[in-house]
Amino acid sequence: MNILVINCGSSSLKYQLIDSETEKALAKGLCERIGIDGRLTYSPAGGEKEVTDAPMPTHTEAIQLVLDALTNEKTGVIKSLDEVGAVGHRVVHGGEKFASSSLITDEMLAAVEECNDLAPLHNPANLIGIDACKKCMPGVPMVGVFDTAFHQTMPKEAYMYALPYEYYEKYKVRRYGFHGTSHSFVSKRTAEFLGKDIKDMKIIVCHLGNGSSISAVKNGESIDTSMGLTPLEGVIMGTRSGDIDPAILEFLAKKEDMSIADLNNMLNKKSGVYGLSGGVSSDFRDLGEAAAAGNDKAQLALDAFAYRVAKYVGAYAAAMNGVDAIAFTAGVGENDADTRKAILSRLTFLGLELDEEANKKRGEDNIISTPDSKVTVCVIPTNEELAIARETLALVK
Ligand code: ADP
Repeated sequence: MNILVINCGSSSLKYQLIDSETEKALAKGLCERIGIDGRLTYSPAGGEKEVTDAPMPTHTEAIQLVLDALTNEKTGVIKSLDEVGAVGHRVVHGGEKFASSSLITDEMLAAVEECNDLAPLHNPANLIGIDACKKCMPGVPMVGVFDTAFHQTMPKEAYMYALPYEYYEKYKVRRYGFHGTSHSFVSKRTAEFLGKDIKDMKIIVCHLGNGSSISAVKNGESIDTSMGLTPLEGVIMGTRSGDIDPAILEFLAKKEDMSIADLNNMLNKKSGVYGLSGGVSSDFRDLGEAAAAGNDKAQLALDAFAYRVAKYVGAYAAAMNGVDAIAFTAGVGENDADTRKAILSRLTFLGLELDEEANKKRGEDNIISTPDSKVTVCVIPTNEELAIARETLALVK
């Protein structure tokens, strides 16, 4: 069955058409500047990438253009929409309502809407994408796959903040965690790749990209993860601060006359390795180059990032009372050998030993620890679209 995977933002929409039998993408691309002017990128497997400026006043026109591209006589990859068996939608926040993926029904959508407050930038956009697909493909079964669902197995001691309990009761203020599709995919793949049963394993997944999060996966279940109510908590990220003393906010609000919106913007867009490096870049390639050229703040940002990730790994080894495997994934985790080395060099107390040559390889599932290492360290490329397609298939079959 062909499954269309949609990841919809407020003004953009990424898509992939995946053949569930071969698990290969037949085509992928994105719509950008929806509601502004509109640009469609379309890459059929094995074919030329096309970029077309096309008006997209709303997400419905954007989806229609994607469907037209997929079925185009010359460059399309399917003959008609009858060949799309199901649609899988990424939904960012499922709150406490969704511990797994769910078939999209009117009741399900109402429940997702109730989670909008928890992810005001993301969930409404995800719902718009679902609505647009329903209009363009009536009758095709659809599934919502949540970033938060995999972490719903966290025990209460891990997900509660030490705030007055009433805020949990009234507003469900608690830790949820994100990147769940990736943590689930990568932890399963790690066990499979190592030829072990995930039910007997303690795995720490380091999803290090622009946004980064770490998870502790014990016997196949997430028991802790570094992001919280929102994707701002945890490790240092590209432009997000990760953990800070919350009292800093009042202090800065007074000193710099900042509003809540200013503070939010600063924490999400101006902090992280970008802020710490004095504005050099949020991209680890730029930071590496700047540091090599003698920029102290760029070096500091890289050091602080590695330090914070290592601290979380240490904490999660404690949370699981041990660790069998550590898996690196996402843009930085998959590609940045120097950052992996900087993190792992702080974790030798675990009996972990890096294989420097193996660490230099790129592009595929790979073990980067030595055969004697007490903890096996791997690089496992994530594939969130494939994970969404698998979840979708399982529910529509
Ligand atoms: P997102 O969170 O947006 O999905 P990705 O997982 O795609 O992010 O990661 C993007 C980041 O990966 C970039 O900002 C960059 O810092 C990092 N990155 C990508 N390729 C490399 C590379 N070859 N070396 C170092 N860092 C890289």
